[in-house]
Amino acid sequence: MRDVRVAGSIRGARPDTTLFERIGAFLDEQKLSPDPAHYAFAYAVMSAPGSELAAQVAALTQDGVRLTRSDIERLGGTVIDGPPPGRSRRPNGVADANPVPDTAIALVIETQQQVDGFVQIVRTIQAETHGFGRELARSAASITQLAEIDEIAEITSAMIARIHDSEVRLAAATAETDSLRSKLIEARDTARRDVLTGLPNRRAFEEAFATRDRDAGPYCLALCDIDRFKRINDVHGHGVGDRVLTAIGQAMAAECAPHLVVRHGGEEFAVLIGGIALAEAADMLDAVRATVAAKRFRNRETDTALGVITVSAGVTAIHADEAAETAFQRADQLLYTAKKDGRDRVCAG
Ligand code: GH3
Ligand code: MG
Ligand code: MG
Repeated sequence: MRDVRVAGSIRGARPDTTLFERIGAFLDEQKLSPDPAHYAFAYAVMSAPGSELAAQVAALTQDGVRLTRSDIERLGGTVIDGPPPGRSRRPNGVADANPVPDTAIALVIETQQQVDGFVQIVRTIQAETHGFGRELARSAASITQLAEIDEIAEITSAMIARIHDSEVRLAAATAETDSLRSKLIEARDTARRDVLTGLPNRRAFEEAFATRDRDAGPYCLALCDIDRFKRINDVHGHGVGDRVLTAIGQAMAAECAPHLVVRHGGEEFAVLIGGIALAEAADMLDAVRATVAAKRFRNRETDTALGVITVSAGVTAIHADEAAETAFQRADQLLYTAKKDGRDRVCAG
């Protein structure tokens, strides 16, 4: 048989590498992002080195050739388009509002390692339980022939010790799953939160939009943008700009609660307003606008006033069954009108 090597090494993998490390190397060599769909494909390939799938991948990736999209799709995988792993940056050096945070990736890696450890624990327990069952059957047979009470006591205490041991291992496995569950919840939350402002991000908005209770009355969408924000950065620096952005985001979240306020990108926030009609939603946004305009921001370092900072917003009613994108386009158009008409205002439609 020829020496087939797949990127990430299905065959010829170093024996001391874990499955997870081999999957990581495979994703890296195939230039696939750590998306769950890619992970699932890599897992299918790497977890069963003797399978037909692994053999096909080995043949296709011989001599370091990379799998094409159609290769992967033909083999039952899915290719998700998107930026390569790592932190994306805008040309002006401002962090993207929705990068996949490094902490989220680290958590997913840690979680995967925990899963591997957990599987190992369960396998050990299974092996032991199996052996224990056989021993128990053998013991039962000898007990019937035994007259000596001492021997019965010895067998019984050995059985108790084994049961205790299994209980300790099971308790450890349970603790592992609890920790795993809370880490997954944390990773889920991290992936849906904007790092700078601490607000939910665009992904959280998309999920909330898609899963909204359509029977809970009308829904509105507001798009809110800080006025002349570039000037704040230019005059006071990005650090001050970041703090202003965070303060305005937090003020919006407090003022709009319980409605969902997310950082939609840059210095722009989106609000998903449920259960109230457009006129009332516009009033709520106008109250936010007034709250922000009344704030007196100061530069902590220089103790100088930043002057009045205002926001503009576009608010629109979300029609039944329309896509989020369509509602966003309308809200964006209304926001543009608010800017054109002089800023520090809310435009509803
Ligand atoms: P307008 O009233 O028309 O909205 O003017 P503007 O200056 O706010 O709009 P423009 O789109 O020209 O500039 C937006 C600025 O927001 C540019 C960008 O540097 C800044 N910005 C975007 N995200 C961040 C961030 O995370 N931190 C900081 N400090 N600035 C950011
Ligand atoms: Mg702006
Ligand atoms: Mg903007």
